[in-house]
Amino acid sequence: MKTAISEERVHILDSQSNVWSVISEIALSDNQEDAFYVCDVGDIVRKHKTWKAKLPRVEPYYAVKCNHSLAVLEVLSTLGTGFDCASKGEIEKVLSLDVRPDRIIFALPTKPASHIRHAASVGVSRMTFDNETELHKLKKLYPNAEMVIRIRSDATDAQFILGRKFGCDPETEAPELLRLAKSLGINVIGVSFHVGSGCREPEAFQRAISSSRYIFDYATSLGYNFHVLDIGGGYPGEHGTSIDKIADVINSSLDKYFPDPSVEIIAEPGTFYVCSAYTLACNIHSIRNVTETDAETGNTKTRKMYYINDGVFGSFNCIISCDNHVVVPIPLKDYTGSKYHPSSIWGPTCDCVDQVVENILLPEMMVGDWLVFKDMGAYTLSIASSFNSFPIPKVHIVADKNVW
Ligand SMILES: *Cc1c(COP(=O)(O)O)cnc(C)c1O
Repeated sequence: MKTAISEERVHILDSQSNVWSVISEIALSDNQEDAFYVCDVGDIVRKHKTWKAKLPRVEPYYAVKCNHSLAVLEVLSTLGTGFDCASKGEIEKVLSLDVRPDRIIFALPTKPASHIRHAASVGVSRMTFDNETELHKLKKLYPNAEMVIRIRSDATDAQFILGRKFGCDPETEAPELLRLAKSLGINVIGVSFHVGSGCREPEAFQRAISSSRYIFDYATSLGYNFHVLDIGGGYPGEHGTSIDKIADVINSSLDKYFPDPSVEIIAEPGTFYVCSAYTLACNIHSIRNVTETDAETGNTKTRKMYYINDGVFGSFNCIISCDNHVVVPIPLKDYTGSKYHPSSIWGPTCDCVDQVVENILLPEMMVGDWLVFKDMGAYTLSIASSFNSFPIPKVHIVADKNVW
């Protein structure tokens, strides 16, 4: 196995240190000005233990798009998870870690032809589809592929509803697609769905698993022998969240609809594994004080605008792409006892949408002070661009002594 992690400097945590103390140490070191991440490998390992304990029947295939850092992929491949890849590039990245191609599912229902050819050439045979065109493409480019039909089954409450883009209707479209697949001689082996990222409705899994049962039975009537159920992503991963409720719903639905232990149950968790492992520290490089006069009372009040060196075109992309996504800044310094002011926080670029926090009470901070953001591991680094040529923050890796 390649050892990207050991090539970087790993801070080993002892009884005196933790993520916060490492952040302080780096932030307060000489000439440190760039924003940076601290990734706690132990947090990823603990997530995996939780998954294994709560969802013993479900094999996790980590969704690479969520955070494709080598450190993450390497830790997960060591732990033995599979991988959900959505492109040739992601497949190459995972295979370069000596992961076997049968531990990968190419879980994008609409794939460019060159990416299908690549999957065929390296033996990644499991892939999803939700439309007719894809079946005709597959028939030509990869007739031996093992196909998984992606159905739509949305949670009523989630941060991102992926059903807007993917998934065929289980009742109207899926039967027709399966009949077409059968007539083309395509090997369909199972069903997948994704209830939506940041799912806040655990019962969504019950509905989706019950729909999947219906598709399994329909496939049997066509002469297929389905044996894979892929229950997708959507599990929360922030500090203080738990998958207990979702796991209860999944486990009881599997017992009810898929009691046969020979059906392989897999999932594609992304956020769950990486969200809380990454903490971001940003430096305040500029401050504007804006005085406003109340038209009625004539009273003036000052609002503070803090400019930090990462923003919505970098790690905070979720603020634009995802409705109501809120991030919480924590000042690194101890400001106990100081006065709080209405404040806003802005990213470094020239674009006016580059606002990280619209309105918050913060102590009076100075240029050079640091703001820390927790739960920054999911859909941050993997989406960040260097718009205006502002650099993407570097990652420092930490691990508990016993984890390492
Ligand atoms: C994004 C995505 C995931 C991961 O979703 P999370 O909500 O981060 O767990 C899994 N499967 C597919 C097909 C995806 O597109």
